[in-house]
Amino acid sequence: MKIITIIGARPQFIKAAVVSHTFSSMPGNIHEVLIHTGQHYDSNMSKVFFDELNILAPSYNLAIGGGTHGQNTGRMIEKIEAVLLKERPDWVLVYGDTDSTLAGAIAAVKLHIPIAHVEAGLRSFNRRMPEELNRVLTDHTADLLFTPTDIASQNLMNEGISLRQIHQVGDVMYDAALFYAERAKEHSSILKQLDISSKSYVLATVHRAENTDNPIRLRSILDGFAASQTSIIWPLHPRTRDKISDYSLKLPDNILIIEPLGYLDMVMLERHASVIATDSGGVQKEAYFYGVPCVTLRDETEWVELVNCGMNSLVGTDSDKIANLLSIPSMPVEYTDSLYGDGKASQAIASALINY
Ligand code: UDP
Repeated sequence: MKIITIIGARPQFIKAAVVSHTFSSMPGNIHEVLIHTGQHYDSNMSKVFFDELNILAPSYNLAIGGGTHGQNTGRMIEKIEAVLLKERPDWVLVYGDTDSTLAGAIAAVKLHIPIAHVEAGLRSFNRRMPEELNRVLTDHTADLLFTPTDIASQNLMNEGISLRQIHQVGDVMYDAALFYAERAKEHSSILKQLDISSKSYVLATVHRAENTDNPIRLRSILDGFAASQTSIIWPLHPRTRDKISDYSLKLPDNILIIEPLGYLDMVMLERHASVIATDSGGVQKEAYFYGVPCVTLRDETEWVELVNCGMNSLVGTDSDKIANLLSIPSMPVEYTDSLYGDGKASQAIASALINY
């Protein structure tokens, strides 16, 4: 069976890495061809993940990035269509909720090639988020929808998607967290490099358009960070870096800005943080996997089960709430490790594709 996998952004490299390793462990059954759209192109947003996670080299690199949503999606559809016509795969596999996901889905559905969507059914119910539009549209083109949670499966059923198409397999990011945890311990020296000790800092990431493209929200987050008076380590996403500069915002002294990290260094910083402050979807879940309280810098989240179990506090960009929650070293929570499956989502995905 030939599968074309389409990826283009940081979280997709991490998700695809574990699934691709599973595919390559069954070579007689699955032949995978990778398309990298080029949506993320900086070395520390792309190449580092291919190197350290041993991801198959892409057979096609479309080098499409840096434009508007419409420009990128349109150009990707055109180029992906050409590859699909040439390769004639049995499946197109897409991940998550980026423009690369949607472009892959549209190109495939118009050619009547079956689509499998990993991380299906997530909903923030905020249609102003580009990711929400990408998720909804992709789910409604897909033949096989791999959901991580009960709530995601229920969301799809509520939208009329047939139960037959929904496979609740758990979360591939949990697979990745288990698979790479030991490797991170062995290979990352980031705590030493930054001269920090375990539980002595807050780890922050900010990159959602609703925060970066709104100077009031971005300033309010910075004010909250400043008022917390805690030591904050912030691997800065290129978009956020540009916006901070465009808005001439001043970075408080308690923040150490660093370049975006490879996955293994990021995992180490997450595990040893006292609190994680983020607007990332993946980082919210990783905080939970590592038992670290998470302060989510958004007004809503797709990962509602994290809020329900008390591991995640949704604070939006309220600077007082941010400051308070970052200065508290830990939150008493009832920890259960079963929200995202059993760490074998990638095997379940491979089996479902083979047996379809
Ligand atoms: N990540 C990373 N280096 C960083 C920041 C994040 O490796 O400097 C990883 C993080 O551990 C998680 C993924 O990137 O696995 C999340 O990606 P991102 O926050 O860009 O996207 P989202 O999950 O919000 O779609």
